[in-house]
Amino acid sequence: MLASLVALSVVTPMFNEREAVDHFVARLRPVLDGLGVTYEVVAVDDGSSDATVSRLLQLRADWPQLRVVALRRNVGHQTALRAGLRAARGEHIVSIDADLQDPPEVIGEMLAKAQTEKVDVVYGVRSDRSTDTVFKRRTAGVYYWMMRRLVGQWVSDQAGDFRLMSRAVVDVLNDLPEPRPVYRLVVPSLGFSSAEVGYVREDRVAGKTKYPLSRMIRLTVDSVTGFSAAPLKIATGVGLLSFALCLVLIVTALVAWGVGTTVPGWTSLYIAVLLLGGIQLICVGMLGEYIGRIYAAIQGRPAYLVSFDTSQPLDTAQPFDTAHQESAGFTVADPADQRERETIS
Ligand code: UDP
Ligand code: MG
Repeated sequence: MLASLVALSVVTPMFNEREAVDHFVARLRPVLDGLGVTYEVVAVDDGSSDATVSRLLQLRADWPQLRVVALRRNVGHQTALRAGLRAARGEHIVSIDADLQDPPEVIGEMLAKAQTEKVDVVYGVRSDRSTDTVFKRRTAGVYYWMMRRLVGQWVSDQAGDFRLMSRAVVDVLNDLPEPRPVYRLVVPSLGFSSAEVGYVREDRVAGKTKYPLSRMIRLTVDSVTGFSAAPLKIATGVGLLSFALCLVLIVTALVAWGVGTTVPGWTSLYIAVLLLGGIQLICVGMLGEYIGRIYAAIQGRPAYLVSFDTSQPLDTAQPFDTAHQESAGFTVADPADQRERETIS
């Protein structure tokens, strides 16, 4: 466990957010400065291919509390969040998106609530999603409906990744051996005391969503396989059902043969083969998802690697990226040493 150095850490994963980053900083800074507590902002660059990092480093020159943790490649929102949570050193930790869909003004309310109500988690709850596209709302609706059935009733369909957590919660999260935890499900499952703060989900300030359909599907598969073995049971059920169906077909064929009607030709055969083939492939796929997770866990490869962290102490410093260094005037730790300390299995 890390000793907390500041009262508040604000963790923000960023992937190709060059267009949003200035707006984000402009709105976040006055809020944090106005809280009257010590704070740090941990901006995790998730392997952006645009100028997000260099812009962050420029902004940092003027805002020392802004800390840049750059990952070596794009690892996805949840894993970038994981990198940020592990880097954060605050007494309380807030995770927030960089696109201003989560209003930074709510952070003060979250902190106050955590202190007055003495709770470990304060969820940002979307009281209005009308700015999301119909597609986004529908897919999110299906996702949360499924999660409630598979994972448990505690899953709120209005709580995303905008939340405040105490150091105790983040320490537990950081110790999870799971390779790809889905935080919005894991955090409520831990059972820490919690409260809620409502907010209106705004429009993305600039740029495009980084969650295309393929990523939503990935998040759903991770959520389901990370929490439940129900799909494996579904596979057994469907297999049994198809077996029963085949028995019926056999009986029908025998009866048809007995009464002398022409045996139904290739159609029934064709349907049966297709049906069984499909079911088998689905079952194999489900097994594959779980085996894939076991495989990844056994390999124990780091889910992300930190390229540099602007807050590394000077004594271990070794230049890693001179361009970045010159533009911001900071030094970074030896990447090999960094790998030892900052990666997860
Ligand atoms: N993000 C990230 N890595 C990714 C995709 C997204 O760090 O691979 C960040 C992104 O920069 C933003 C947050 O995760 O700060 C949420 O992403 P986005 O706003 O695109 O998702 P949406 O709000 O559309 O669900
Ligand atoms: Mg967004």
